[in-house]
Amino acid sequence: MSLSLSVWKTQNRSKEEAGFVEQVKIWGVRGSLPMTGSEYQGYGGSTCCVSVDCGDKLVVFDAGTGIVRLGLEIAEQKKPVHLFLTHLHVDHVLGLYGFQPLYKPGQELHIYGPCVEEGSLQKVLSGLVGAPYWPIPLGKMAADITLHEIKEQETILLPGETSVKTCRSNHPGVCLMYRMEHQGKALVYGMDCEVDERMSQSYRSFAKKAQLILFDAHFLPEDLAGHVGWGHSSWVEGIRIKEEAQASKVAMMHYSWEYEDAVIDRANESAKKQDADCIFAREGMRITL
Ligand SMILES: [Zn+2]
Ligand SMILES: [Zn+2]
Repeated sequence: MSLSLSVWKTQNRSKEEAGFVEQVKIWGVRGSLPMTGSEYQGYGGSTCCVSVDCGDKLVVFDAGTGIVRLGLEIAEQKKPVHLFLTHLHVDHVLGLYGFQPLYKPGQELHIYGPCVEEGSLQKVLSGLVGAPYWPIPLGKMAADITLHEIKEQETILLPGETSVKTCRSNHPGVCLMYRMEHQGKALVYGMDCEVDERMSQSYRSFAKKAQLILFDAHFLPEDLAGHVGWGHSSWVEGIRIKEEAQASKVAMMHYSWEYEDAVIDRANESAKKQDADCIFAREGMRITL
């Protein structure tokens, strides 16, 4: 496994990440559905997952299928994992089944997620991980799991002077964006968010002066107009929000499963003409804050 992982990392390294300290790692960038095939390998076919290594603990955003490889990489580690789910749409939780820390005795695992109309986080997650969908119920996993049901405009304090704030996202159902602050740096994870006029205002203040915004660029700008109400944005809004919030950097992700690499490459080129520093995230990429 270590050999295949190191090959994978090397293949996915690009110029824009060269020289960066390895701290924030991208494990999945695909939106709505995972994809396989050579047409998707450049950016990767796994759905959304990002990890931030704080040294004493690992903070993870979303449990898309990308989290499976993260679980394999940290198989030998014992540090606590704090997993923040934006919402419970299937592309953001599908990787839970293969997340190895769940099966590791003594592993401290905290799962945070929003309360939804359909029931408590406990009820919904237990329904998802267990019969008839999976042979092992969430309550029977070997890890020491604590579920934390959270709401918009909350601040969660983690050990080691790390905080995570929440903000309601504009997406069908309940969906949260997260702002993580650690050692004077801030990262915003804003997956599944349609940035309309009203959302722009709250996004702008929520992402104020962040070092990095991980942005939902699901649609190409030209496809966005036909999908109003779907709860997604494009790279155009990403660059605008970054500027309005005076953030340092924006990284696009959650690309529609319908877009092959060549399509995203063209979007990447167009976006760089407006913001030469903008990043189009891909699996295996590392970004420093
Ligand atoms: Zn999604
Ligand atoms: Zn969604």
